[in-house]
Amino acid sequence: MNYLLRQSRRVVRLAKAWLKFKVHGSPKRAPQYVLLLFEARCEPCPHYDPDLKECSICECPVSPDVDERNKLLWATEECPDKRFLADEQNGSESEPHSETGGTVGL
Ligand code: SF4
Repeated sequence: MNYLLRQSRRVVRLAKAWLKFKVHGSPKRAPQYVLLLFEARCEPCPHYDPDLKECSICECPVSPDVDERNKLLWATEECPDKRFLADEQNGSESEPHSETGGTVGL
């Protein structure tokens, strides 16, 4: 039962994230930014599960790869522990690092 509940919550979260991604025009982060976010934020994070290659808080896949399932590729996604923001929420004045012109904030 716990497994079904966990999977149901995961599907709902994915559906919400996908809808937000599509509503904003499917903005993706540049490959080098995905790698930077992974190495600087997720890989050293205590919530990163290297066995499952996912975040233990949101249960999303995170990796350095340009993979459609990778949370870090979607510029509308942010860290549930506020270690990085969605690109459009990042008020930094730094150079753009995503294909959408978003900013890093690292
Ligand atoms: S998404 Fe955030 S909380 Fe999750 S592993 Fe990455 S940095 Fe950590």
